[in-house]
Amino acid sequence: MGSFSRRDFLKISSITLLGISASKFIPAQEDEPYFTAPLIWNGSRKLKRMAFTYDDCYLLNKMQDLEVLLNEYPEFKVTFFPVGSKLLNLEEQDPGIWKRLVEKGHEIGYHTFDHVNLGVMSPATALMDYDKWHGALTQVLGREYNVHFVRPPYDIISYTMDVLCQERGLVATLFSIGGGGEPDIVTRAIQRGKGGDIIQMHIRTQDYNSSVQVYPWLRENNWELVTMSTLYDDYLREQANSMGCDVGTGISLTRTCVE
Ligand SMILES: [Zn+2]
Repeated sequence: MGSFSRRDFLKISSITLLGISASKFIPAQEDEPYFTAPLIWNGSRKLKRMAFTYDDCYLLNKMQDLEVLLNEYPEFKVTFFPVGSKLLNLEEQDPGIWKRLVEKGHEIGYHTFDHVNLGVMSPATALMDYDKWHGALTQVLGREYNVHFVRPPYDIISYTMDVLCQERGLVATLFSIGGGGEPDIVTRAIQRGKGGDIIQMHIRTQDYNSSVQVYPWLRENNWELVTMSTLYDDYLREQANSMGCDVGTGISLTRTCVE
């Protein structure tokens, strides 16, 4: 997280994520008044960076194809949101796959163990589900791994996710371009994208084909693909000026701010 400590990360994120914007392909969801944990739809608009995210991770062959594609673009870093059952299942079929991806600089976030809507779970059940998922991740990586982001199944924002984010220090991660579709359509949407866009993809044939189609254009046009942690770190830095004051609100983390 750059120079931000985890404590700062949590402190800052609780006060800075005010700029909620609507997604392009799903109906705009109002910023739920009860949702108090950090929630992000896009990162800093000032940097020529996007975060590609790949949900579910059901298909081993498409994961392997994407790994090969990413190997051709070593400067591109992406974030995976696998379900826990597939963390274990893909590891069985291709031992070391998750470790390889993490070692290459890609990131992993939570997407529930069995792709259940967090909104229908009680907070206690969601905490158990997260811990089960995290146990699977620890198992496949062979080490502890700090998880920062949750992508809710079905993109549903809920009270339970709010509690989960607060209890486990997670940032709820939606997206500004997503929904999938024909590669030509997805490519055009990304080509019209802005700095800070969060792209939602899934590990499926169509979205793999979209990646194959758009990656060369992104490289030629000097776009950086960064992990969610990098995108979020940019976002927090933009919100906090050099004095550590939250620009715009005058709220200080550590000292009195002068506007
Ligand atoms: Zn999903």
